[in-house]
Amino acid sequence: MTTPTTSARHRVDGSPDASRGPAGSGSDDGDDRLDVDGLPLRHDLRGTAAYGAPQLDVAVRLNTNESSHPVPAPVVRALVEAVEAAAGDLNRYPDRELTALREDLAAYLTRTTGQALTPEQLWAGNGSNEVLQHLLQAFGGPGRTALGFTPAYSMHPIIATGTGTRWVDGSRSSSPGDPFGLSAAAAAAQAAEVDPDVVFLCSPNNPTGTALDLDVVTAVHDAAPSAVVVVDEAYAEYARTGTPSAVTLLPGRRRLVVTRTMSKAFAFAGARVGYLAADPAVTAAMRLVRLPYHLSSLTQAAARAALAHADDLLDAVEATRAQRDRLVEVTSALGLRPVPSDANFVLVGGFDDERAAWQALLERGVLVRDVGLAGHLRITAGTEAETTAVLEALAQLPR
Ligand code: PMP
Repeated sequence: MTTPTTSARHRVDGSPDASRGPAGSGSDDGDDRLDVDGLPLRHDLRGTAAYGAPQLDVAVRLNTNESSHPVPAPVVRALVEAVEAAAGDLNRYPDRELTALREDLAAYLTRTTGQALTPEQLWAGNGSNEVLQHLLQAFGGPGRTALGFTPAYSMHPIIATGTGTRWVDGSRSSSPGDPFGLSAAAAAAQAAEVDPDVVFLCSPNNPTGTALDLDVVTAVHDAAPSAVVVVDEAYAEYARTGTPSAVTLLPGRRRLVVTRTMSKAFAFAGARVGYLAADPAVTAAMRLVRLPYHLSSLTQAAARAALAHADDLLDAVEATRAQRDRLVEVTSALGLRPVPSDANFVLVGGFDDERAAWQALLERGVLVRDVGLAGHLRITAGTEAETTAVLEALAQLPR
């Protein structure tokens, strides 16, 4: 286990090691590459780097785990109508309580997880990243510690740093048969040792793809009695059949939080809607840190219209799972080593030089993600044509 590594991990030069891109273009915008040393920047932000998945204009973009399926035309029409209806009231601030949206989110989660939830248990924000930030603002902060199990979602430590929370990199298994597994015993031992204020579990885990057994969640919850335990379920809808959600563990666990997003399975990344389910006391805490009216009327209206068409939007999930399974099968047949996936992406190992492979794929018009893991690249499951393109490009790579 290693303690804060921010200066080594995140440089303000556009080349974060957690999401490498082509040399010098790892950052979303050029400004963070400017020298910030002359500014009275917070001490703990010096030497850090911005999140920087490359946004390149390439034919096949399989690097940020979006849905490759556009919003279907009937849903687009419903969205436009909902936004139009909300537009006339833009002279007023939005509903600060997100009342109707939280009702719809509670109904969606109740229907899909089998766990009855009330709107008081739901909270939403501009993407689940904002929800994660609200959680760290409320339960982390200066003098507090957050623990995650690396490799996991690269924004967890970045948001921790941004909120002044000390970050501790816990570790996953290093067994050759299961290189990224996380057992209940190993996770609980680390949680007990660190005694954190916030623990992040990611299931299915980004970038490795595999879902956690629920006994990992309960073991960590019990081993870290002072912690809010956040289970990031951004990719839950893609999980293999029979994978239960941590939402089913909420009754009786006031410190457990499950975060979700509409950015992936709902094909709604551009709209920026994420949410959490937890005890009503947790949502009450979120009100203490959110900015007033943080979720615009237009976003709330669009999200409700999307939820009303959940079945149409989630239709593409099955096709994406099929492409994910195809990625696993064919990369394995190519002699690579895919990690079993419950998500809409596959982490593929077995590259001699992942940077060279990343570049060679880009030269063939395919953008994938170098997540900074030696020998590995992460590939989003796209449309059938996109999957064909990446598999053909992989087959052509020199061995
Ligand atoms: N959690 C995980 C594990 C993710 O991979 C992502 C997006 N890449 C997010 C949260 C954040 O998604 P959003 O802010 O779009 O909801």
